[in-house]
Amino acid sequence: MFVRVTGEDWTRLGEKAERVAGFIGNRAYMKMTAGHCAALEPRARADGSTDFFCTIYEVRPQICRDLARGSAECAGERVTKMELRPEQVWRKNL
Ligand code: SF4
Repeated sequence: MFVRVTGEDWTRLGEKAERVAGFIGNRAYMKMTAGHCAALEPRARADGSTDFFCTIYEVRPQICRDLARGSAECAGERVTKMELRPEQVWRKNL
């Protein structure tokens, strides 16, 4: 229940919708995998650090479009939502 998926988002996602999003009651959200959005793909760099890619970037939900990557608003959302996730999960995925 971290990333809401509206009807317009679902339509934009097209055939990807069922893979990355699902319903809880009558509301849809991005699915979670290993403590993060199911569309987020961690990729290891040669130097051992990790890059994070949105695999549905072109059709991502509106809330993801509204929060510019790296903006203060985005950072605030991450901190707020991190507090709701088990610490061992988000620490592992940093
Ligand atoms: S930008 Fe992509 S990976 Fe990040 S929360 Fe939105 S859909 Fe998921």
